[in-house]
Amino acid sequence: MAVPKGNTSKSKRDKRRTHDKLSPVNIVECPRCHAKKLAHRVCLSCGYYDNRQVLKSGEKKKAPAAASK
Ligand SMILES: [Zn+2]
Repeated sequence: MAVPKGNTSKSKRDKRRTHDKLSPVNIVECPRCHAKKLAHRVCLSCGYYDNRQVLKSGEKKKAPAAASK
């Protein structure tokens, strides 16, 4: 197994971590129901995208974070 010969310098470590940051999600207002939604995604509140209905009314796509338990 490879064993590190020396300590990683702060400079080297910090340069490696420049790629670790997360970019913020782009939240916009739905032009139809004015709910907050992700840009370039179907509005989960009214089910519309590009001025046409994509999801059935009342149908809500299950959010991955709000898992039913
Ligand atoms: Zn909407």
